[in-house]
Amino acid sequence: MPSAETTPSAIELLSRLVAFDTTSHKSNRALVSFVEDYLAGHGVTSHLVPTPDGEKASLFATIGPADVPGIGLSGHTDVVPADPAVWTSDPFTMRRDGGRLYGRGTADMKGYLACVLAMVPEFKRRKLKVPLHIVFSYDEEVGCTGVRPMIAELGSRLPTPRAVIVGEPTSMAVVDAHKGPVRWQVEVTGRAAHSSMAHLGVNAISVAARLIGELGQIERELAALPPDPRFTPPYPTLQVTEVTGGIASNIVPAICRFGFEVRSMPGLDVDAIEQRLTAFAKAQCLPDMQRLAPEADIVIRQSNRVPPFGADRMSEVIALALKLAGQNDTGAVSYATEAGLFQAAGVPAVVCGPGDIAQAHTADEWIAISEIERCLAFLDSLADWAET
Ligand SMILES: [Zn+2]
Repeated sequence: MPSAETTPSAIELLSRLVAFDTTSHKSNRALVSFVEDYLAGHGVTSHLVPTPDGEKASLFATIGPADVPGIGLSGHTDVVPADPAVWTSDPFTMRRDGGRLYGRGTADMKGYLACVLAMVPEFKRRKLKVPLHIVFSYDEEVGCTGVRPMIAELGSRLPTPRAVIVGEPTSMAVVDAHKGPVRWQVEVTGRAAHSSMAHLGVNAISVAARLIGELGQIERELAALPPDPRFTPPYPTLQVTEVTGGIASNIVPAICRFGFEVRSMPGLDVDAIEQRLTAFAKAQCLPDMQRLAPEADIVIRQSNRVPPFGADRMSEVIALALKLAGQNDTGAVSYATEAGLFQAAGVPAVVCGPGDIAQAHTADEWIAISEIERCLAFLDSLADWAET
């Protein structure tokens, strides 16, 4: 069991972490400096992977032997925006009420970061044979973009972990699969004309509507795939998420832009979806458009891709997480995490962390102190495992 001071220490650390407003569009450097100083105070050296402008940084640190691949304790430092008008109290001042700790990021996912940091003195006390890595990223909430430069350095400037435990809020359930959002932006360029002279124009909105119709067909086909009951809903989804186009009621619109997203599942060939839409555009839309307006075009651009996550059946880290959490079964979630990116880079991953995803991204976000305690016990058992 963790020592009696560990829970108060985790709560204190969480209140410090919450006080840094690390909304994704802001800098996380003050938080990272705080963590760096805290780790230095325990004799642990941090390696930073900053953005080119230095506004943000990931942090990687190792406790234990440097020449052995370790277990990464992975989390993101950024949080989603908090509108103070809809919060009962200041989102960036942690408030305790009974068994709950309120504040932006308490559940997603500074609670996990605080638990990991609170355990550092204990990790240092242990004679770890397998090291533990602290792996903190940024910009997870805006497409899991911040962890990528750090992952790119694994195996060169940073050691490649044996596995990572991504502490997103699962209520300490062991999650071995999640969907991954892939997003595209489509721009249709037609030709403007007075709407009374429609035959001289190429209506970009009408072309976009045909493309969206094709996407609707693909959506129905995805929904008819053999269901994977681990997920809710049990099939990949496709949604058109934004549309803009047209400037006046008497002008044939020259431009229409729309965005669509596929919530992919392990094994789905999302590139085939893009290829199909591209082929449809080339065969069914562009010839007619360009006959009248040679400049007409359809550009389909992938804007973000978070790979879905599906752990290997025989994964060591899944078995380890189940043992540490005292559970028999894994689950799947529909939200995305950094786990798929680690997995894609050859680092086996599992998702398991304190707090309830239902609290994440909400006003008056909170985490139960009992969840902090369960996470600390989990990390303490991890230290036991890493010692032997
Ligand atoms: Zn998160």
